[in-house]
Amino acid sequence: MKNIITIENVEKHFANQVIIPSLSLDIQEGEFLTILGPSGCGKTTLLRMIAGFEKPSKGAIKLDGKVINDLEPYKRDMNMVFQNYALFPHMTVEENIRFGLKMKGVSNKEQKERAEEVLHLTQLTELRSRKPKQLSGGQQQRVAIARAVVNNPKVLLLDEPLGALDFKLRKDLQRELKNLQRNLGITFVYVTHDQEEAMSMSDRVAVMNNGKVEQLGTPEEIYYKPKSLFVATFIGENNIVKDGERLFALRPEKIRTGSPSDTGMRTGVVEDVEFLGNHHKMYIREESGENLFIAYQPTDKDAHYKVNDIIGFGWNKEDEVDVT
Ligand code: ATP
Repeated sequence: MKNIITIENVEKHFANQVIIPSLSLDIQEGEFLTILGPSGCGKTTLLRMIAGFEKPSKGAIKLDGKVINDLEPYKRDMNMVFQNYALFPHMTVEENIRFGLKMKGVSNKEQKERAEEVLHLTQLTELRSRKPKQLSGGQQQRVAIARAVVNNPKVLLLDEPLGALDFKLRKDLQRELKNLQRNLGITFVYVTHDQEEAMSMSDRVAVMNNGKVEQLGTPEEIYYKPKSLFVATFIGENNIVKDGERLFALRPEKIRTGSPSDTGMRTGVVEDVEFLGNHHKMYIREESGENLFIAYQPTDKDAHYKVNDIIGFGWNKEDEVDVT
């Protein structure tokens, strides 16, 4: 795999505040990479530095091996898609899509051919003659994406592009975006604070906290092998268990339940049970009173536990993941 973007020891200061202390990250050609982290951790700042809207205070950003720190955004062979779409209101869908090509002096014939292709890919062919205000939020976002891929950039940068949309539409557009990325083969760098969105779309996820990349890996690696306490608690739910000097994470779905008399089981009392559709979420207080565990139980089981039940619970040693 070839790296398309290399971020080397990049720092970013605003006034005398350090927003990004020192960050290195390699982005591979053709991958869907998501930068995931809580609000204010520096995701947008990092994306804006890649795009060229902000300059690193120190370090280097490379595209195809060449340092681009001082290169103007429009010379970078990348496009950026924003949450607020930023479409031209007086132009039709097709004119919005063709605008950038027209400005670059691309021939009418080629403009038409390329627009036709992306209209089809983004399912906008039928809506080509509408103005943005005659479109739904999801359709407007599709136009913004179509406009950003029509000149076939090497990299597409997306800053919370689905943030303004409702849950169901977000889910649909997530699948569409992922398919579009696969079909086009363009490298996508996607910023979100939504861990489920990151997990479902990405080839790799960079989990950020306080201006640092805490972990970079596939969704499975990030979920099953979190390296830090932050990653273990930010991605899905985890039990953080202190065992002497050792701290380990344990996924709720890894906890088995049974009778307190079963061999090898710990004893606990059920403090609460929540119905969550496909599973019950149980809060189990260990007999010693020290640890509160979360366990999931599929709801299709005949019987489930009730508050104050005394139960046995346990897990396999290999499901413990050391965290620091
Ligand atoms: P969100 O998910 O809320 O958009 P984020 O992870 O994208 O957050 P950034 O927008 O990168 O975070 O901001 C990181 C920090 O840098 C914040 O504390 C923010 O206030 C600060 N910051 C961003 N831009 C500037 C600026 N131009 N001047 C001063 N501080 C800034």
